[in-house]
Amino acid sequence: MERIKIKDLLENKIEPGKEVVVMGWVRTRRGNKNVSFIALNDGSTINTIQIVADVPLFGEEALKPVTTGSCISVSGILVASQGQGQSVEIQAKKLEIFGTADVDTYPLQKKGHTLEFLREIAHLRPRTNTFGAVLRLRHALAFSIHKYFNEKGFFYLHTPIITGSDCEGAGAMFHVTTFDLNNIPKKEDGSINYMEDFFGKETNLTVSGQLEGELAALALSEIYTFGPTFRAENSNTPRHLAEFWMIEPEMAFYDIHDNMNLSEEFLKYIIRYALENCKDDLDFLNKMYDNELVERLKFVVENEFVRLDYTEGIDILLKSGKTFEFPIQWGSDLQAEHERYLVEQHFKKPVILTNYPREIKAFYMKQNDDGKTVRAMDVLFPKIGEIIGGSQREENLEKLKSRIAEMCIPEKDIWWYLDTRKFGTAPHSGFGLGFERLVLFVTGMANIRDVIPFPRTPKNAEF
Ligand code: ATP
Ligand code: MN
Repeated sequence: MERIKIKDLLENKIEPGKEVVVMGWVRTRRGNKNVSFIALNDGSTINTIQIVADVPLFGEEALKPVTTGSCISVSGILVASQGQGQSVEIQAKKLEIFGTADVDTYPLQKKGHTLEFLREIAHLRPRTNTFGAVLRLRHALAFSIHKYFNEKGFFYLHTPIITGSDCEGAGAMFHVTTFDLNNIPKKEDGSINYMEDFFGKETNLTVSGQLEGELAALALSEIYTFGPTFRAENSNTPRHLAEFWMIEPEMAFYDIHDNMNLSEEFLKYIIRYALENCKDDLDFLNKMYDNELVERLKFVVENEFVRLDYTEGIDILLKSGKTFEFPIQWGSDLQAEHERYLVEQHFKKPVILTNYPREIKAFYMKQNDDGKTVRAMDVLFPKIGEIIGGSQREENLEKLKSRIAEMCIPEKDIWWYLDTRKFGTAPHSGFGLGFERLVLFVTGMANIRDVIPFPRTPKNAEF
């Protein structure tokens, strides 16, 4: 007989009275010498189905290995449930044990482990309610992102993970090499001879797919990337990973306003998707971790984002009378505390901040006529701060060249990028959404290590 997923049973896709087969991991078993109640979960939903096993039918010995964490297959009759909280249960006829889980050594015996402890057993934590919920939400969000862009006619572009360019300035990079580190080929002047390395040049793991994304947008009009990015930043914060996933749409013929509109519509679409499709998981996280979670998600979906000049934002911060850990003035980059003040205390709405000082932004952003600011836009969210960073791009070859000269980026390193401005250049824009920042926001979790299956952070790559 074919296995049925627990989610389908609980959603009443099968009529009571039928025989069914379910497989999954035992969450708990309780009962007495007449009857045993097994709560079984197969990951298809956060909910468990109740298996009712007559002890005399199976024998006490046979049921003994059915402990928390063990994996079993059960066939039985689906019946309307006597107990509260669920519509159906299974009256077991046959039971097979795939794998036992020793009571003394299986670490997930009880509920209520700390998230810190669970990080140390990242190989087992998907079996908890919390990580099941987070992983299902992560999937739903990834799916809705592809769905959104597909519906809008954007093409999914795969950009390289190993890159030969290191000019994006988005963060410190990880080297990629096949050199024997104890015997690195050197040139006569003592510097490393990359000619002898695998690619014949210095290569790194990508920090962003944007530059390659632009190349494709200036041919296909609208593309997006969705891939892993790597930053060797030694910042042990709850918002930074060394390996994270990024979504980067890039659009020809979009100015900064089109770009802002897209970012707002996009965020609302995917958050609404989660609200509509992941209710059980969100309700669980709302109850266990963050009582305002669902309310906050609805609030973002239902309200217009505030659009504000960086300069006005600085004025508000200066006039706020608040003492921040990092003092603020025109020209400095905003820290999360400033971003969150604007969003949570001042406007009480998500904020899109634009026209940042050129000195604190990347070389490719379109320069404004004032000579001081660039057409950047950051989307700031409650609890998170910056969730999206984007801009209209500089499409003018001469302006772009003068900017990269100022920033000491050698033209020979990005000749291919400059070619797009030389041949058929076009106004265009794009942005980057850090996927884990989004998952943080939507799950209400507090630490970015808890929204990716296997976090990579300084001194941590065990699993
Ligand atoms: P921050 O100021 O928070 O360090 P950033 O300015 O370095 O971010 P960008 O280079 O603009 O970030 O990257 C685009 C998006 O990628 C950010 O808006 C954020 O959502 C996400 N992001 C950046 N760095 C990280 C990281 N180390 N871990 C997880 N997400 C990140
Ligand atoms: Mn940024």
